[in-house]
Amino acid sequence: MATKITKQSQFDAIIIGGGACGLMCAVQAGFLGKRTLILEKNDRPGAKILISGGGRCNYTNMYATDQQFISQNPHFCKSAFSQWSVEDTIIFFETYGIEGQEKTLGQLFPVSNKAKDVVEVFTSLCLDMDQPIWCDADVKAVEQTDGGFTVRFERYGREERLFAPKVVMAAGGLPIAKMGATDFALRTARNLGLKVTETAPALVPLTITGKNQDWYEALSGNSIFCRVSNEKNSFEENILFTHWGLSGPAILQISSYWRPGETIELDMLPHDNILDIIETERQTNGKRPLAGLLANLYTRKFADALAKFLPIEKNLASLTKTDMDAINNLIHHFVVKPAGDKGYDKAEVMRGGVSTDELSSKTLESKKIPGLFFGGECVDVTGWLGGYNFQWAWASGFVIAQGI
Ligand SMILES: Cc1cc2nc3c(=O)[nH]c(=O)nc-3n(C[C@H](O)[C@H](O)[C@H](O)COP(=O)(O)OP(=O)(O)OC[C@H]3O[C@@H](n4cnc5c(N)ncnc54)[C@H](O)[C@@H]3O)c2cc1C
Repeated sequence: MATKITKQSQFDAIIIGGGACGLMCAVQAGFLGKRTLILEKNDRPGAKILISGGGRCNYTNMYATDQQFISQNPHFCKSAFSQWSVEDTIIFFETYGIEGQEKTLGQLFPVSNKAKDVVEVFTSLCLDMDQPIWCDADVKAVEQTDGGFTVRFERYGREERLFAPKVVMAAGGLPIAKMGATDFALRTARNLGLKVTETAPALVPLTITGKNQDWYEALSGNSIFCRVSNEKNSFEENILFTHWGLSGPAILQISSYWRPGETIELDMLPHDNILDIIETERQTNGKRPLAGLLANLYTRKFADALAKFLPIEKNLASLTKTDMDAINNLIHHFVVKPAGDKGYDKAEVMRGGVSTDELSSKTLESKKIPGLFFGGECVDVTGWLGGYNFQWAWASGFVIAQGI
């Protein structure tokens, strides 16, 4: 394999990864008159932006605060968000022609519903400012050299090396290898002696095996509104039954906090009390079967499926204290012990990453290796579902651009 060595860098920084963080970093650096080069492994930039939000890109959340981010140091993200706020994201995209519309719970999407519009903002700004994006550039190593770094990569079958005084690691996390995800940022951090906190799939569906598996299978495709909780957190949104377990927004949210072996609890009627509803109905309509009442609260299919656990054929007047306890437990305290999760192929994000202990929260520069910056998903800052992860990627890209 031929090796081409370019000794002198015409770039202030090389950015590894042309995703949300890397693209924002290149553009913001360009605004400041700094020259960057993005090296992107895929044949085009922004692959995850393009598929995000079902191809519509939920690019931020109007209600984002530091509270919706998971990290070993929950305070770490505050500095970046004080430098680049949700309002900054909204104004930035509006400036370049993207109006936002809120779908639900503060989630902003482009009015056009096209994620490609978001990517085009960055690609056209990079073109205008002469900030090159080299695609099909698979970075193999980053080595510290005098006054900077040598970045070794393969492009079109050739090995190349470039020198730059600064390097930005924006190579993302582990979810969805077929979209270009690699462990490059984590591996490089470890090789350079930086601590990496334990990583795991997050915002990921949960699997169920064992004696109730057939019940989940039978309900596959049904969704219900729930409060899903563990000891410390709870989320109220839909859950979706599938033939292998549970998905849907409330499950994805709790999955980021779930650890193997733990249980989660479903309240399938979070804003009402099933016992009060039965008591009221009983007084005027005691002959009504429980199944009929449940079918008013849920779909018929779901109500019928509860026969596995409840005497749904009994009429309301004949329900005993034991029956009522069972109904209360099932509807409000349904305990689920997931067998596992669907893994990185189905996860929207990675939990954990380069330890925040290693980085300045103000600049995201490595404390041990000046000139090396980490941003976006590879850092141990993980957002909830709903536009939070992009908000972190934009904010970290902005912050790094100030420091390179
Ligand atoms: C299906 C799906 C839907 C999502 N929807 C949303 C959503 O609507 N809203 C939201 O906020 N978040 C969403 N996310 C999460 C969001 O996409 C990520 O948090 C975000 O893209 C992280 O940005 P990043 O720049 O850190 O990493 P990425 O966007 O993953 O970019 C990293 C880039 O680095 C490249 N790379 C990796 N290794 C190398 C290497 N060795 N050499 C060169 N390049 C390399 C990769 O190809 C990739 O393009 C979604 C994720 C998925 C998987």
